Parts: sequence; C-alpha cells; structure tokens
Amino acid sequence: MAYIVGLIVLLVLTGVYVIFLNRTAKRKNERSGMNSKVISMESHRRAKHSSGEQLCSSCKKKNGKLIFYAQDNGTVVGLCKDCKAQAKKRDMLPL
Ligand SMILES: [Zn+2]
Repeated sequence: MAYIVGLIVLLVLTGVYVIFLNRTAKRKNERSGMNSKVISMESHRRAKHSSGEQLCSSCKKKNGKLIFYAQDNGTVVGLCKDCKAQAKKRDMLPL
C-alpha cells in the first residue's frame, strides 16, 4: 500500500514538474517573441528605407512615390498621389 501511495506522490510531483517546465518555457517564448517583434520592427524600418516602391497606407497599392503625412495621433502614413486628396481633406501635415 505504501508503495502505491509513493508511486502516486511521484506521479503528482512529476506532473507538477512538467507544468512548471511548460510555464517557464512559455515565459521564455513570450520573451523571445517580444525580441523578435523588436527585430521585425527594425527590419521593417530598414525595408522602408531601402525599398523605393512602397505600399500606400490608404489604398495598399504600389502607386509610385509616396508622400508622408503626420496624423493627429502622431502616426505617420505614406500616401500615393491618388490618396493625397484625402490627406488634404483631413488637414494632415506633409513631412
Ligand atoms: Zn493610395
């Protein structure tokens, strides 16, 4: 009987240990996920600078050179010549 109780305790401890390991692994993944997000932002920024042809923030099309505007909330959007009129309507400041 004592043997069975010992076995159950061992199983429970193993279960707890596995859960604990999973949690720490998850936490590590979250942290590395944050890091990869930072890296992707960096590469995104680099891609923005290097590529001549960029997608318009409004119509999402490659429509020649973009004009960048600052929005009221502080974000910057790149608009093609077709969407320029929208920016003017919204009183956005060209950068
Ligand atoms: Zn556009």
